[in-house]
Amino acid sequence: MTKALVVGAGLAGLAAARDLAGAGCDVVVLEARDRPGGRVEQAEIADGRIVQLGGELVGDFHTAYPELVAELGLTTRPSYVAEPGEMTFDLVDGTWTGDDGPWMTDAERRDAARVRALFAELSRSVDPDDPWSHPEAERLDRLSVNAWMREMGAAPAVIRAHEVQALSLSGGSGERTSLLSVLRTDAAAGSPGEYDLDVWENQTVAEGSATVALRMAEELGDRLRLTAPVRRIAVGDGVEVVLADGTRLTGDVVVCAVPVGPLRAIALEGISPERVASLRRQRHARAGKVAVAYRSSFWRELGQNGLCESENLFGSTWPRARACSRSSCRPSGSCTISPRPTRCGGPRCSTRSRASTTSGRATRSPTCSGTGASTRGRSAT
Ligand SMILES: Cc1cc2nc3c(=O)[nH]c(=O)nc-3n(C[C@H](O)[C@H](O)[C@H](O)COP(=O)(O)OP(=O)(O)OC[C@H]3O[C@@H](n4cnc5c(N)ncnc54)[C@H](O)[C@@H]3O)c2cc1C
Repeated sequence: MTKALVVGAGLAGLAAARDLAGAGCDVVVLEARDRPGGRVEQAEIADGRIVQLGGELVGDFHTAYPELVAELGLTTRPSYVAEPGEMTFDLVDGTWTGDDGPWMTDAERRDAARVRALFAELSRSVDPDDPWSHPEAERLDRLSVNAWMREMGAAPAVIRAHEVQALSLSGGSGERTSLLSVLRTDAAAGSPGEYDLDVWENQTVAEGSATVALRMAEELGDRLRLTAPVRRIAVGDGVEVVLADGTRLTGDVVVCAVPVGPLRAIALEGISPERVASLRRQRHARAGKVAVAYRSSFWRELGQNGLCESENLFGSTWPRARACSRSSCRPSGSCTISPRPTRCGGPRCSTRSRASTTSGRATRSPTCSGTGASTRGRSAT
């Protein structure tokens, strides 16, 4: 029987271990922390609602994750994008409410629409399964998103709108992001613009996103070893993995499911220097998240949807529809942080869910029973 060592018990490591175990391998999962899940985690607050502290949102064009969710006996439901009302922009020079770039002039909004159309056209020329087959792949990869926008003559406000969105997603600046990478991402989603939330974030796991990891961990049982940080991985005739306490484990194959940041703390042997150098060069943007529970969805009274993009401390806020326990949902809502009173915006719910806005956001459907909220900070844990 093949013996597989899996390093890291986030969604990737757990899913790999589950598949390997299902295929009849002898699997051991080694996880540094005292809990499985990695960047997905959830907590139950005093009134029984479960809040997500890490990853939670997916799009309905995704395939593997919803399939996994179904295999685990879990279900998905619409996320915060179904929340009615207008979104908020909390910028360094003021706060605005409205869906179509309310802080921009009419000319800047028209320019944003023009640049979005150019982006969509270019994205259609990229094969998401083979982006390097594009005749200009290398040039598009060397070009940053913002440099491309400047080449297209985009107004400064249009580039700023893109940066605000990148901050809201805790993504890296468009100055440092490969154009080819975002064209490929967009082409894979088939979305009308770069990272349209109605496409990318419209679903969440009804029973709690971290439940996906917890269910897989439960299935793996004692094949999962917690508080077992790996310090060395050697690949040769078979593999050897050494833990921080000196324990040595051997196997036939190793799956390393540790992100490139913490991977720097692991000595890698038997892997080509080019590959290691490439891994060591890669980086993730830093992100943190704060969940706040309120008794009611107060933003609704203001005609807002709880979704905010910000250039200030929090990159974005968004409501959580039905922050509830596994079996029951409290009648009153939970949370969002509205950074400061908005300059405008009486009640005005939109009636469509797919109309893209200047910033790539979409207007919201009026049919949500949402409650709850989270904020994304631009740097944190
Ligand atoms: C705040 C936040 C919000 C997010 N929101 C979303 C979202 O809404 N939608 C979405 O799709 N994605 C979201 N993401 C991203 C998503 O959570 C991650 O892409 C995904 O969970 C990564 O899974 P992974 O298994 O690849 O890595 P991780 O979850 O990071 O798992 C890696 C595991 O390896 C372990 N490890 C590290 N070093 C060692 C070592 N030396 N030895 C042993 N184990 C080690 C870690 O402890 C960790 O458990 C979010 C991320 C964060 C932080």
